[in-house]
Amino acid sequence: MSKKIIVLAESREGALRNVSFEAIAAGKKIADGGEIVSVLIGDNVSELGQELVAYGADRVITVQSEKLKQYSSDGYAQGLLAVLDEENPEGLVFGHTALGKDLSPRIASKLGSGLISDVTSIEEDGGEPVFVRPIYSGKAFEKKVVTDGLIFITIRPNNIDPLPKEESRSGEVTSLDADIKDLRTIIKDVVRKATDGVDLSEAKVIVAGGRGVKSEEGFEPLKELADLLGGAVGASRGACDAEYCDYSLQIGQTGKVVTPDLYIACGLSGAIQHMAGMSNSKVIVAINKDPEANIFKVADYGIVGDLFDVVPLLIEEFKKI
Ligand code: FAD
Repeated sequence: MSKKIIVLAESREGALRNVSFEAIAAGKKIADGGEIVSVLIGDNVSELGQELVAYGADRVITVQSEKLKQYSSDGYAQGLLAVLDEENPEGLVFGHTALGKDLSPRIASKLGSGLISDVTSIEEDGGEPVFVRPIYSGKAFEKKVVTDGLIFITIRPNNIDPLPKEESRSGEVTSLDADIKDLRTIIKDVVRKATDGVDLSEAKVIVAGGRGVKSEEGFEPLKELADLLGGAVGASRGACDAEYCDYSLQIGQTGKVVTPDLYIACGLSGAIQHMAGMSNSKVIVAINKDPEANIFKVADYGIVGDLFDVVPLLIEEFKKI
């Protein structure tokens, strides 16, 4: 049965995040030929609507207000619930991002709905969608179906391919005049701690460093390699605890969960808590002095050697391409 699906888009600093396009593709798999309505909340975001259409949204609704300039679960929930009141969808798709993880339970509880979080792929069984999600820190996968009520999922970034961008796609972009009540929390300013460049959770290439990197300066060659490959730098908790880098770079059970196309692990041992955050990466390259290091168990390619010899060699070779 065809369904109307609401897809929450996300923007940051005037640009749409990739996960928005992936969520549209996920919505299409659920909609069974139904309508995809993408919702974009913020301040001055209407000019981004057409790009969502180009990636497959049939309609885009923007909810704009000065009060929605910064994300707050209170404000965004008010904006989104106003849309849901008018649209009555059969399904909702959010990104499993910091925003999606914060907002989705709030919306689910307001709607009295269930929620399937962190979906990495969508299969089909007898015309109905089957949602695949990792459990036990990525060591196993479970498959879930929704038998009753709203289909509400969050999707892990970098796992579901977006549809090809087609500028010729047509779709309506409208604005909803939502009455956003005074917010309980007002964010005055955001001070970014993360490093510049590619967003870690959406990066296609990650060069991660562990305690073996030995110092803040030790991260420099990793940054150079990441820049060269258009990727981002990540870290183990060991490296963060040792103050070689900021905690915003931490990958793992208590850090970010990432699934890049290429993960280059430099001087990190492969503790189970670290692997919970990266073992589903498509290709893993490990560089470690210790041939017995645990990280080699999940690596597709292993290089036994000193990272301070190997990383410069990789930089030299990639520069030739
Ligand atoms: P180490 O285990 O010390 O490994 C360093 C590695 O570098 C060694 O294998 C060594 O052979 C290699 N090496 C040293 N010098 C070089 C060199 N010059 N060239 C090449 N290789 C070299 N950890 C996380 O990462 N993420 C998490 O989210 C996380 N959550 C946790 C949650 C809990 C509740 C607990 C208890 C722990 C958590 N940890 C987490 C910590 C985790 O258990 C490990 O302690 C940590 O991941 C180890 O970091 P590391 O691999 O950088 O350091």
